[in-house]
Amino acid sequence: MKINENFLKIESSYLFSNIAKKVKEYSLANPEKAKDIIRLGIGDVTRPLAPACIEAMHKAVDEMSKGETFRGYPPEYGYDFLLEAIRDNDYKSRGVELDISEIFVSDGAKSDTGNIGDIFSLQNKVAICDPVYPVYVDTNVMSGRSGDKADGKWSNIYYMPCIAENKFLPQLPKEKVDLIYLCFPNNPTGMAITKAELKKWVDYANENGAVILYDAAYEAFITEDDVPHTIYEIEGAKTCAVEFKSFSKTAGFTGVRCGYTVVPHELKTADGTELNKLWARRQATKFNGVSYITQRAAEAVYSPQGKQQVREIIEYYRHNAKTIYEGLKACGFEVYGAKNSPYVWLKTPENMGSWEFFDMLLDKLQVVGTPGEGFGPNGEGYFRLTAFGSKENTEKAVERIKNYFAK
Ligand SMILES: *Cc1c(COP(=O)(O)O)cnc(C)c1O
Repeated sequence: MKINENFLKIESSYLFSNIAKKVKEYSLANPEKAKDIIRLGIGDVTRPLAPACIEAMHKAVDEMSKGETFRGYPPEYGYDFLLEAIRDNDYKSRGVELDISEIFVSDGAKSDTGNIGDIFSLQNKVAICDPVYPVYVDTNVMSGRSGDKADGKWSNIYYMPCIAENKFLPQLPKEKVDLIYLCFPNNPTGMAITKAELKKWVDYANENGAVILYDAAYEAFITEDDVPHTIYEIEGAKTCAVEFKSFSKTAGFTGVRCGYTVVPHELKTADGTELNKLWARRQATKFNGVSYITQRAAEAVYSPQGKQQVREIIEYYRHNAKTIYEGLKACGFEVYGAKNSPYVWLKTPENMGSWEFFDMLLDKLQVVGTPGEGFGPNGEGYFRLTAFGSKENTEKAVERIKNYFAK
């Protein structure tokens, strides 16, 4: 047999495995200090599920226990009750009309953003922000769309630097690209895009026959009015954009697993093939649906109590983001993000490398963050802290940083 050699091109250890390894080594060498470690690194939530979701899950479990209400395989694209709740609450309420056949419920946005490449030719040129959520790059490498790596970059990927000089927003490509991955509010920079800025991308994609793959996993953290909650708030987006959303960061579903992808019927190739049909075929073949219990939990996110409870959880994280942002700013750090996002992106002091800064924070302050370099070459010299820790730990970590850097 022969393997898919594209897998050999990818570095075997993923960013977060590297971090985990470093923290483990430090803990073994410094067992006393290790007790004080505060983790503001990985983008995983920590607050428990909303009571409304738990209640819905209990009820669904009971239904599974009786012959009359037992459910087997779920519909491949999601139960109507959830599709309708998504359509009404996430779209109709924002003036966007969708048919439920345009929404595909899944086990999360990581799978969907990773799998969407299945429906596109390997000949497409991919455009990716730098720094970026690593899934978009790695899945294109695995499928053989990336070319080869030289100087930290893949030869067939078009990189869009998101740096301080352009307010961490990508610039329109200067050469022909076909698939454009955008994520707003952004992981890792925490920066958002305004409706006016996103309109430029929608126009560009429509004019050039490109498709925007829009990851809106952090939509729930948006606070500013001119920031779109869905790309379909932008006129013309239905003919050029696929949108990915997730209950992970919105409602703490990282361990429950549920998200969805929108592929409008109007999104077609030049010769009229609907991408919706291809994604439907792909999902029906390689995916067998999300459990009934999980979909009932996701539905409960949209109930009046669910909405209120989820809002409170988001508020909790938002407060942490503010604590980090303002604390670091007060002691002289150059900081970004936080306003519409659970992430704070900071410039390392004195031009330290991001792994160097990682080691220092761990060694001197027992605070774990994420080195920007792990998200792409332009992340070097930056560092990500997340708001997903507890309020107490977040405050403690910020105090340590303040005390250390104030001297
Ligand atoms: C966390 C995250 C997701 C969500 O992934 P799930 O698989 O739904 O948990 C998607 N995109 C980005 C950029 C993320 O950071």
